[in-house]
Amino acid sequence: MRPFMALTLHDTLTRQSRTIQPLDGRTLRFYCCGPTVYGPAHIGNFRTFVAQDVFRRVVEMGGLPTLHVRNLTDVDDKTIRDSQKAGQSLGDFTRFWTEKFHADCAALNLLPPHVEPSAVAHIPHQIRMIETLIQRGHAYASADGSVYFKVASYPDYGRLSHLEDRELKLGASTTAGAMDSDEYSKDSLADFALWKARRPEDGPNHWPSPWGDGRPGWHLECSAMSLEYLGEDFDVHSGGIDLIFPHHENEIAQSCCSTHGKFAHHWFHVTHLMVDGGKMSKSLGNLYTLEDLQKRGYHPAEVRYVLISGHYRAPLNFTFHSLDAARQALQKLARFDKALLERGCAASPARGDLAPGPFADAWKTLTDDLNVPGALGAVFGAINRTKPAALTEAEVLACHRGLHFMLEALGLRLPPILDEAAVEVPAEIATLAEQRWNAKQSKDWAAADALRKELDALGWIIKDGKDGYQVMPK
Ligand code: AMP
Ligand code: ZN
Repeated sequence: MRPFMALTLHDTLTRQSRTIQPLDGRTLRFYCCGPTVYGPAHIGNFRTFVAQDVFRRVVEMGGLPTLHVRNLTDVDDKTIRDSQKAGQSLGDFTRFWTEKFHADCAALNLLPPHVEPSAVAHIPHQIRMIETLIQRGHAYASADGSVYFKVASYPDYGRLSHLEDRELKLGASTTAGAMDSDEYSKDSLADFALWKARRPEDGPNHWPSPWGDGRPGWHLECSAMSLEYLGEDFDVHSGGIDLIFPHHENEIAQSCCSTHGKFAHHWFHVTHLMVDGGKMSKSLGNLYTLEDLQKRGYHPAEVRYVLISGHYRAPLNFTFHSLDAARQALQKLARFDKALLERGCAASPARGDLAPGPFADAWKTLTDDLNVPGALGAVFGAINRTKPAALTEAEVLACHRGLHFMLEALGLRLPPILDEAAVEVPAEIATLAEQRWNAKQSKDWAAADALRKELDALGWIIKDGKDGYQVMPK
């Protein structure tokens, strides 16, 4: 095993970049809030899951084993509502969408979590946690048989989302509607449901409990399942930024008040994928699924490339242009790999032989708060400086192992090489190239230069001949 290379990661709680050190000195225990299985996950959801996958890969490639738990939310307001609309049992309905989710994860080359527990399979664990919270004075049952967490009983409530900066006051909005919804509004700060008494609209979806029939509130499942599989204290907890409040805040309250541990020691949140400058979400109807993009001829590896190409802490705007650029970038990597293979490397280097080698700068950049765009820049910088034909045999081998080390860390699979002549030049690029050629013909050197730079920034270069030019991916 490789000695663990220091990895730093921003922590939402302390707002600092902190070095990852496993609490038990051996294994990084990592919990991710998983999908709500009531429809296809969109590529915004996958931005978060892919970023979590890159984190796990970097930890493992750095020499530290992980224990990765990602749950399935298979009972909540939305799964119950939509299973009934579909006329299916909750189990059949969520199984269908879970299988679809798994197929998309495999296509996007996500490592399967070591444990994938479901909320429905852990109802007794959730009931036990509620009992402890009631015994310790942190929860109370209401007359209808619902149970609520008493936010005022936990003075640390709000630390993760820095509520003190948002001037939200306890009790500002404690209407029953706000308290019972799984996803109450960002600006309300209310006691929240741990157990929801059976309602007619729940149909057959209710379970017995000491407070009567009902079902768990959404926030409770992650507290109960992380305790079961990772213990009272574990290393890193992750989700998209929309989960910071109230979901993660509530998880902390439930876990810290029902155990003697501190729950997650590091919080890793992924900023949203946007589309046309707005959040991509099911309720806004502006989402793309992996299948939508595959139908338009894009490969999942290209989608993965786009999703990792922006820093996980910055918003990323999804465009089709970025998918075209991803295709060119992956082609460039595949052509470089082919040139190394032609110098006699084995097609798939053994995992144990991989080492950053000449890509050490790219690896170092990646371990600095998962700076994927910086690491990709360093990979292409190294490729641009390297002429496989001019390398010694030992250099060829080191370069090949280094390239595959980075591909493995980023989870990128190389696509088959497209015929170069067949590389499609997007219309926008062709127009810019034509404008540049015309500027050059009319000796407007400043304009020609500016257009060349613009093309360069978009990932394209121009080779001029006597009577014309050729546009090529960088
Ligand atoms: P859900 O299936 O709604 O529970 O969400 C699954 C994961 O996707 C959670 O970690 C969310 O925070 C995350 N998520 C939801 N929308 C987006 C988005 N537009 N960009 C990135 N992550 C998102
Ligand atoms: Zn969760």
